[in-house]
Amino acid sequence: MPLYSKESLEQLRQRVDLVELISSYVELKRSGALYKGLCPFHEERTPSFVVQMGHAHYHCFGCGAHGDAIAFLMQYSKLSFFDAVEMLARRYQVLLEKVSSELVEKQEDKHVLRSVLEEACRLYHYLLLHTKEGREALRYLEKRDFPLTWIDRFRLGMAPSEKGVIPHLLKSRGFSQQVMIDAGLLTPSFRGGWRELFAGRIVVPVLDGMGSLLGFSARRWRENSDGGKYVNTPETLLFKKSRILFGLDASRRRIVKERRAIIVEGQIDALRLIGSGLDLVVAAQGTAFGEGHLKEVQKLGVQEVYLAFDGDEAGGKAAAKVGDLFQREGISVRVVSLPEGKDPDSWVREKGIEAFLELLETSQEYLAFLVDHLKGDYDLGTPAGKYGLAQQLIRQIRSWPHPLMVHESIRSLAQLISVPQELLGEPLSMPSLYVKKSGWAGFSEIDPDKAMEGEFLRWLLLAGSDLPDLFTLAASNIDPEELLVPLCRELYETLLRQRAMGEPYDLLSLASAIEDPEAESFLKELMERKVDWEHAKPLFIATVQKLHDRSWMYRREKVRQRIESGHCSDEEALELLKQFAEFKGKPPQVCVTP
Ligand code: ZN
Repeated sequence: MPLYSKESLEQLRQRVDLVELISSYVELKRSGALYKGLCPFHEERTPSFVVQMGHAHYHCFGCGAHGDAIAFLMQYSKLSFFDAVEMLARRYQVLLEKVSSELVEKQEDKHVLRSVLEEACRLYHYLLLHTKEGREALRYLEKRDFPLTWIDRFRLGMAPSEKGVIPHLLKSRGFSQQVMIDAGLLTPSFRGGWRELFAGRIVVPVLDGMGSLLGFSARRWRENSDGGKYVNTPETLLFKKSRILFGLDASRRRIVKERRAIIVEGQIDALRLIGSGLDLVVAAQGTAFGEGHLKEVQKLGVQEVYLAFDGDEAGGKAAAKVGDLFQREGISVRVVSLPEGKDPDSWVREKGIEAFLELLETSQEYLAFLVDHLKGDYDLGTPAGKYGLAQQLIRQIRSWPHPLMVHESIRSLAQLISVPQELLGEPLSMPSLYVKKSGWAGFSEIDPDKAMEGEFLRWLLLAGSDLPDLFTLAASNIDPEELLVPLCRELYETLLRQRAMGEPYDLLSLASAIEDPEAESFLKELMERKVDWEHAKPLFIATVQKLHDRSWMYRREKVRQRIESGHCSDEEALELLKQFAEFKGKPPQVCVTP
């Protein structure tokens, strides 16, 4: 986790223009100092989403969504806290300084790598459109039904087969050979020296979820060229293939909104579907879909995925495997079955996007698909065959950590293979108290202390300079020691310290203070709660009172236990009894005027 210097965060704070930022996602209309629009966080017809000029926060009077620029990006685009900070920095062109020197270097390195990739991307695109070889490649794309508008939209390009052109052009633009190597444009050659990885190929840019270039995937398009069909950027500082979701930049918005995603095997499949208007698609990049990709999908809040893999044996196997990854995390899976030998790209080219949408409609639930998929291995006409299939599936289902998923799945399995449920074993004989944070909403707030202290911190973070009252109230009532959850205490101490030094105290300011992944996910959870901004003060006072009540109760309990332990002298006991008598009244009330 990075730590950013306070100076660079301050620079960013000054540059961020909340109205400008939000306008690029939500249509805002001005009336006086207010900007109003339709709230992106709930369905509505008359605008109740408001940003006030000069204020650091937005607010929705309909659903209570509330926050600053960072909270907006976290809620709207489901970015992590640090991704939101970095995205703002890129947008407002502030170079964030990292505090530890090693990280500063890394950050600068990334910056240079992005620039050389951008430049290469521009060159590839230009060469595709404006050279003789490029025109041949264009004809090839045309034959594969890739319209020119898509070539522009997805910034496809061509790396010329003549060696040395691209390195020469990049060098003339000030990039060193080392930078080209680090960005993955050049790789070591077997003959010694360096070779251009993509020479003679059609080049597809690979972007992260925010549209920033990470590398390329390059496709062979002529029969006589050598190497595999696809070549991808090797692992670099930017390109981490186990986590890249190809297509996410275009699909992020809809995936987050609809909480579902379509997963395909190839980039061409993804481009075909996205280009045809189905911007709800991602693909793994140059590798099989694995745990890392799953985590990225989970972060988007997805609850349902459609697997649209190739219509062949390998595609079926992949769907069985990838489906299990999702199901075990509580994300439900549907499997789209394509006719033998077809993939989403060829299906849509042949039949049109409507035909693909139909396949989505008729997709199978994961278990039904599995039963079909495994049927061939067993003779379901015989009891032994049925038993064998049931055993295999039960073993798989019981390995999932979600009790509810296990319970429901065993029930549907019984129906699918027409076997009485009792024969499949007791569905709830699982370690059913196992609770895990993931796609299942509402499970994470089981710690009441953390929930209460989180609420307290959330108000402070949101109030910032718009409602300085709240902070005064907090500081004069709540001592950091009163917070029991170490993470909350630490965050509160940080805010107090920042305020005492006259520094801003808001979400952005925390980027110079926290570097703990737990803190990061905690912040994300806080920012997703709704806010009743009109009643901010009374609600905050109620929260502070709850904290008072709790520490009063704990202190009283401690005194009582000490007395009852019998380990204290008469003198001490007398003193303790006196203290206990004081506790008999009411807990201290919140002091509103300090
Ligand atoms: Zn709303």
